[in-house]
Amino acid sequence: MDRFCPICNKKLTVQLMIQYNDYFCNAAKDHHFSERVVGEERKMVKFRVSSGKQRLYCKFDYGNGYSEIWEGAENANRVRVEQVFEPNYSSVEGLVSKLRTYLVFS
Ligand SMILES: [Zn+2]
Repeated sequence: MDRFCPICNKKLTVQLMIQYNDYFCNAAKDHHFSERVVGEERKMVKFRVSSGKQRLYCKFDYGNGYSEIWEGAENANRVRVEQVFEPNYSSVEGLVSKLRTYLVFS
């Protein structure tokens, strides 16, 4: 079954594995989106959105019920939120400001 990027609506590229499937979008420079799916169930989401030179990352672990948000490099300090929030993926600017809010108030 095809899956689509919630940010840009393009079809996600799939990497089929035995225990799970990874889907990802790297169609545009301003975002990257990937999700890990087992059966039809979304287990993990990771996305990156960019605004100018700022790069913000977010990871949702649905199985363990937490989110992580961080800025800049992959190994930067991460803000951990003990829940998975469902963001509005419809605009990159909206995602950027949502993630900035989490970084500022933590
Ligand atoms: Zn996309």
